[in-house]
Amino acid sequence: MKWNYACPHCGATLNPHTKVILAARRGKRRGLILLSPQPGNYRSIIHESFPLAGGEMVEFSCPACGHALTSAAASRLAEILLVRPGQPPRRVEFSRVYGEHATFILDGENVVPYGDDAGVYERVNFFGC
Ligand SMILES: [Zn+2]
Repeated sequence: MKWNYACPHCGATLNPHTKVILAARRGKRRGLILLSPQPGNYRSIIHESFPLAGGEMVEFSCPACGHALTSAAASRLAEILLVRPGQPPRRVEFSRVYGEHATFILDGENVVPYGDDAGVYERVNFFGC
């Protein structure tokens, strides 16, 4: 099954090949981060010119339109869309904190958590926005 991810603002596909590509900013530094399209897989590819340390918060944006991807539900999360043929797009929320493993796929009224740190976001109301 192919998982396609899209920008919620411009609709651009974020994984044209095998990885999800996001623009990232940490202070004055900018870079690109490649993420696995598989929920719960936190292996990422980051160039050495954009070093990140555990616990650093990254500002993600769409590489196509530049719009910030920060979640409206929780500022520590970023949000993109999961698009599968014949199904309505689903929100995917994931931690902006480097090294924190938390991802949520919103499926109708259910929140499906992935990652060891998902419990950090237990109290987030994903549907209140
Ligand atoms: Zn976009």
